[in-house]
Order: sequence, then C-alpha cells, then structure tokens
Amino acid sequence: MINDANTLSESILSADIVIVGSGAAGIPLALEFEHSATSVLVIEAGSFKAEKETQALYKGLVRDTKLHNPADTFRIRMWGGSTTLWGGRCMPFDDIDFAQRDYLPYSGWPIGINQLLPYYPKANAYLEAGEYRYRDHEALASNTPPLFAGFKSETLLTDGLERFSCPTDLGKRYVHRFAKSENIHVLQHANLTHIELSPNGESVEYLVIKTLKGKTLTIKGKRFVLAMGGIEIARLLLASNNIQPKGIGNQHDLVGRYYMCHIAGNVGNLTINGDTKQVRHGYEISPEGIYCRRRLQLSPETQAQLKVTNMVARLHFPKITDPRHRSGILSGLFIAKNFISYEYATRLKDGSSRGLIDYLKHFRNILLDPIDTLAFLWHWLNKRTLAERKFPSVILRNKTNLFSLEVHAEQIPNPNSRILLSDEKDSLGVPKVLIDWQYTTNDIEMVRSSPHKMADDIKTSGIGEFTFDETTFETELMRFGAYGGHHIGTTRMSEHPTTGVVDTNCKVFGVNNLYIASSAVFPTSSQANPTLTITAMALRLAKHLKEASV
Ligand SMILES: Cc1cc2nc3c(=O)[nH]c(=O)nc-3n(C[C@H](O)[C@H](O)[C@H](O)COP(=O)(O)OP(=O)(O)OC[C@H]3O[C@@H](n4cnc5c(N)ncnc54)[C@H](O)[C@@H]3O)c2cc1C
Repeated sequence: MINDANTLSESILSADIVIVGSGAAGIPLALEFEHSATSVLVIEAGSFKAEKETQALYKGLVRDTKLHNPADTFRIRMWGGSTTLWGGRCMPFDDIDFAQRDYLPYSGWPIGINQLLPYYPKANAYLEAGEYRYRDHEALASNTPPLFAGFKSETLLTDGLERFSCPTDLGKRYVHRFAKSENIHVLQHANLTHIELSPNGESVEYLVIKTLKGKTLTIKGKRFVLAMGGIEIARLLLASNNIQPKGIGNQHDLVGRYYMCHIAGNVGNLTINGDTKQVRHGYEISPEGIYCRRRLQLSPETQAQLKVTNMVARLHFPKITDPRHRSGILSGLFIAKNFISYEYATRLKDGSSRGLIDYLKHFRNILLDPIDTLAFLWHWLNKRTLAERKFPSVILRNKTNLFSLEVHAEQIPNPNSRILLSDEKDSLGVPKVLIDWQYTTNDIEMVRSSPHKMADDIKTSGIGEFTFDETTFETELMRFGAYGGHHIGTTRMSEHPTTGVVDTNCKVFGVNNLYIASSAVFPTSSQANPTLTITAMALRLAKHLKEASV
C-alpha cells in the first residue's frame, strides 16, 4: 500500500519495522519482508516525481565549495532516492578493504568479506547487474580477448570487472510490489524531522514526521532503520539532541566524522604499442547481456608492499575541453555539457577552456569529423536513449592506442573530514548540514605510488608506456574535489562504542532498536563504487532483523 502523508486521516502510525528512506538501501531491505507476518512502514520524504521544495530540504552549507558539490546535488530526495540518477556501475568490495592495514590509519572493519559474500549475489539481482561474476574469465565468453594482448603481470591485475545495472531506478522497478503488498506500507511526502528517544536514551520511542503542507505525524515501531543516505543520517542523529545532548549515538563525538568520498581524476598518457586490436578498452557484453568493463588494479600483496590505498584505473579518452583532440564526438560532448544534468556535466569540465576560441574549434571538430559524429549519435540514440539497458558511457573508437587513466581510489579515513550542523534551518525547522570534506597530502601520495608501479609493469612487459606529470598530479585528482554521490563513513561500524557509531549488526551503540542501512556505516571506502555493497549490507541487516528477537 502506498499513501501520501498529507491525505492520511490518522496522525499516529505504527509497525514492527519502520524504515526511513527508499533508495538502494531502503527498498531492498523492505522487500525482504514481503509476504511475511512482519508489518513494515517505509517513510519517504518525496514522491514519484522530483519536487523542488522537497529537494530544497537537502540544501546545506559547504565549507570549501571548490572541494565539495552543493549539498542538494548528487543526492535525490524522492521515491527511489539517488537510484533515480545513478550510473549503475557495480562491483563488490575487495578482501583487502576489510583488513586492518598498519599503513592506513583507522582502517579495518569488524566484519570480513565472508560476512557479505552470501548477500552480494542477491544484491546484484536487485540492482539488475546479472550474475555475481567479477573476473573476466568467469563472466565473459571464453573467446573474449584480454584487455591488453600479450600482457602478463603478477602485480598489475587486468581481469577484474565492473558490471552495469540498467541503471535500475529501484523506485520505478519495484513500485508494483509495494503497491500490492499487504504488510508493507509506504508513506510519501513524509519527512523525518526528529528521533525521540525514551527518557533513559536506550531506545527510540517514536519518530516525528512532517509534511511540507503542515501536517505532523508520530511513528511508533518495534525497530527503526535509518536509510536516508550518508549525509542525512548524520544530520538527523545530530539534530535529535534533546535526550542525548550531543546527538544520538554521538557520546564519543563520532557521528558525522570520517566522511569519505572517492579520490578520482584523469591522469597521464598511456600508449600501447602496435595494432589497435591489441587493446579492448570498451565494454564487453556478458552472455546474459550485461555491459562489463575491465580495469587495472594492483594486487592486494602489491598494495600492502607499497603501502598504498586501494585504487583502480580505467582506460579513458583525452581531455574533452581541449579541442586539439580533433574528435567530433568529444567536441559534441563538450557542447552538450550545457544541456545535461549538473551531476553528469560536472565531470565533462575536465580542464580549462579558452571561451569562444575553443567553442569555435569544437564546432570545427564536429564539422570535420561528420561520419564518426553521426555514427556516435546513432549509436547513442539506439543503445542509450531508447534502450532499456543503457550503454553505460561514451567509449571512443580506438584510432591511436593513446589513452589517459581514469583513476578511482579509496580515501583515507580522516576524523577531521566531517558533516556538522550549521546554524541555519530548513523550512521544517531541522538544522541544515555544514559539509566539511577534507583530504590530506597522504591521500594524494598514496594514490601517486600506484600509477608509478603501473608504469613500471607496463614498461617491463613491453606492451607500451605510461607517463604522467608529477607537478599537475594533485590538480588533476582534485579538479572536481570529492567524487560526487558517494557519501561514506559518517556513522562507522566498529566493535566498540569509543571507535564507532554502530556495532557489527549496524545497530547504533546504546540504542537497542535503532539501526542504520547506508554507506554511512562503512569504516573504509574501497576503490569500489558503494551501491552494491550498500544493498548487500541492507540484505544482511534484513536477515538480522528477521532473526533477532524483539
Ligand atoms: C549522478 C550519480 C551517479 C552515481 N553513480 C553510481 C554508480 O555508478 N555506482 C554506484 O555504486 N553508485 C553510484 N551513485 C551513488 C548511489 O546513487 C548511492 O550510493 C545510492 O543511491 C545510496 O543509496 P541510499 O539508499 O543509501 O541513499 P539514497 O539512494 O540517497 O536514498 C535515500 C532516501 O532517503 C530519503 N530521505 C532522505 N532524507 C529523508 C528524511 N529526512 N525523511 C524521509 N526520507 C528521507 C530520500 O528521499 C531517498 O529516497 C551515483 C550517485 C549519483 C548522484
């Protein structure tokens, strides 16, 4: 059943399990209780359409606007959450992400990858990324050529895959199951504004829900799960401070700290010798029809030896902004960036442009490269715009074997990088966030070591050469600041309340019926995009909630 909070006659509702948020965590978590005797109430701030006033409730302050996007971008406050906008790139975390690495401060999860492996295949299925197979020899047809013909290395792995969801908007995809469910009730236009604890602070008594039309509701439940994304969860815990004055779960001043995104950018020049057929830089299609792509990654042993963060690199095209690439397609993208969403346009601004002169050169590129440009537009229309399973991103025909490396790296957990409350309030009276995302020199230096090692291996193998400019390395990685859309670590998991906000079951320390389903609980950020692991963790939490006595 799906209702609008504004039209409900009751002002008090209750359920066995109350889930706040309907994104990659909230939707699969709720559906795990479908057809069961457990009553579930899903509280969702938005509705089926993006609404300006609702999205404005995500607005906040950003300490350094060069380093972090505005608070109301890269997350969507509506049914389906940010899966209404995501790119669909899926991959699991690596074993090494869970390890306590003596060279990486605050690393180490209190659970290992074995505790997530049972949930990854089903998470893959919810996200429609096909079989849970993330090595090329398991996932692709046996006659698929390798990434680089003739390349062999024990230290630089090239067989790891990322797989792509449609990208599936979980709200749209699963709405019919919610609409006809008898035990799962969805309430839209329902904004959580306060979490009320019992007087002794040991349990949640009720949630306060407000609508933008002025209605207030009380939500009671046996157990409560916060699934509002890594920024909003910290905000609500900090803002609900009438019983625990520092905020819920914040006795040790940890809520909002260790805020991580990813360190990402395009670096260097990779030239592969010989014929263009030597390189398979684009998407492969798995036998069950899923787009997959290979990346370069240092082996875990090499990472430990070099004492570096986990990182992957994809083969990328030259800078779009620089018309000297002479590609009509890239010039078309350069111009198109003005007409697409903020989130996807941002990464197309990958260098400085000299205004009108460059625009004219980009138009010239399009005119001089009509066949490739038209072929690309046709491909894009067929395989992206009109396709149910969308071609994931722009891949250029390989004319020269010259690439840059698109780096996506783990950020070192840092207590000073954090989400705080500002003095301003939103229209429902909740303090807005102040985002103070920070990176350190160490983040850059650890990432820098990996391309050095990659360059050595590429040279030794004789397949080509990778070079990069040391002097501009940091600028390239920080061109866009915090990698948007991945909000990690703000309520980290730990074995002990002095070092974390939630325990190994994602329960907030000291509050016996409050849980968190989000990348907020990840103690480290991995090289991997977070959503597959968010969903796997939500499924693990569902199992725990089913088994744990109330
Ligand atoms: C442009 C873009 C591209 C991305 N691409 C990828 C990718 O390729 N791969 C990948 O792994 N990840 C990607 N991501 C990240 C991915 O979208 C998120 O990791 C994922 O959606 C997070 O899931 P979540 O359920 O934790 O939060 P969300 O999906 O953000 O859902 C939170 C939900 O809570 C609701 N909510 C918030 N506050 C309240 C409140 N106070 N009261 C009630 N409800 C509330 C929201 O409306 C929303 O429905 C991308 C993100 C963006 C923006």
